[in-house]
Amino acid sequence: MNPTLEATLVARKTALIYRHAILSQVLSSANALMLAYLMKAAFGIAAAPGWAGIAISVAIVRIVVAIRYQADGARAARASIWCRRYEVGALVSGLVWGGASIAFIAGQPDSARLFTAFVVAGTVAGAVPILAPVQRAFALFAVPAVVPVALISLVGATTLLHAMLGVMAVLFLGAMLRSAGVLHATLDDALRLELGKDEMLARLEEARLQAEAASLAKSRFLANMSHEIRTPMNGVLGMAELLSMGNLDADQQRQLATLRASGESLLALINDVLDLSKIESGRLELAADPMVVGDVLRLAMAPVSATALAKGLSMRCQIDEAIPEAVLGDNLRLCQVLTNLVGNAVKFTERGEVSVAARLRPSADGAVAIEFSVRDTGIGIDPDKLREIFEDFSQADNSITRRYGGTGLGLAISRRLVARMGGELAVESELGAGSCFHFSLAFALPRD
Ligand code: ADP
Repeated sequence: MNPTLEATLVARKTALIYRHAILSQVLSSANALMLAYLMKAAFGIAAAPGWAGIAISVAIVRIVVAIRYQADGARAARASIWCRRYEVGALVSGLVWGGASIAFIAGQPDSARLFTAFVVAGTVAGAVPILAPVQRAFALFAVPAVVPVALISLVGATTLLHAMLGVMAVLFLGAMLRSAGVLHATLDDALRLELGKDEMLARLEEARLQAEAASLAKSRFLANMSHEIRTPMNGVLGMAELLSMGNLDADQQRQLATLRASGESLLALINDVLDLSKIESGRLELAADPMVVGDVLRLAMAPVSATALAKGLSMRCQIDEAIPEAVLGDNLRLCQVLTNLVGNAVKFTERGEVSVAARLRPSADGAVAIEFSVRDTGIGIDPDKLREIFEDFSQADNSITRRYGGTGLGLAISRRLVARMGGELAVESELGAGSCFHFSLAFALPRD
């Protein structure tokens, strides 16, 4: 059992029984007043006004207790004390209603007996939903209120009506205790479920924050590590470059070429990991400098144009004439995304063409919206893999690495970079027919 949960449960149940305390005491006083008036006026019972006085005094004290409960700022923390006070109040009220039976049933005419029993039964039945949250409070009220009706009717029974009244009072008490028990159990379950849900949500939120912090720490560590590895790697490559200028025989040249190729692909991988972790750890700053969109596109196509030529691919670059001369943006990062997309397009296309385009798109506020697209007529992507290829270290299938190389990080980085620039990288593709990667970005215009 969780002690905090149990304490909260007691606080919630106590709040529930106090919620209708004042109203129920006002109604109970009105009942008592009417019963006593009838008993005095119709049957001349002398004790009636005195009994009504006691009943109303008890109700007033209980109302004062309820008001003090509502005013107590620490009522949740002191719930068990307030609950105990309520139980004492319920017991006293029960005894008062039991007193009505003694005064208005014992030795009185049948109509007085029946009416009193009827009012006591109504009062007890009405208390079921109000007192059900604390089952003991209901028992403390109902038992002393009903038992005298039963006892007086059964013990001094001279007629069948008296005996039946006694038996029915006992059955009624049993039924009421049972109803209160069922209601209590349902309420208890509902409260536990609600409190359990709150606790679970709090734990989930805590776990989420922890996971986020751990992931951030991991990204920072990765960013630092890749940065540290890059420096000696540059040293290795620089030395290999120097070595290649010396007098080497053919074998040594070949070994050195392998060494340099391996070093360069390792450096490319380190750069990718560094980029990814920089973006993830929120360290990536985007520039907003004037740039010429056409220049960025041509720059992105340059590294693969020789490969495309060698493969016999035609390369096309289409730039919408309506695009302003210069816009404000991060040309290096935009170029990095396009280079990656064009690189993939050339890599995965054996014949046909690769076309890169920039088109002006309608935009609401003064910004310039441009859609970039890189289309190829290559191998295409399996529809099932279209989502996966944007994930870290993910390739459309395992044979890709063997055939085409690559790390599966390019698109993951590009997707994040495009998102950081305010766009969304998307793809349409058909197996064997080609692919089209595209995204739209909004740019501000330079001031002058
Ligand atoms: P890499 O190219 O290093 O494998 P990427 O993240 O750039 O990593 O690409 C992930 C995968 O997406 C590729 O391995 C390939 O399966 C698929 N892919 C990307 N671009 C294309 C394309 N233009 N045509 C076909 N498949 C592509």
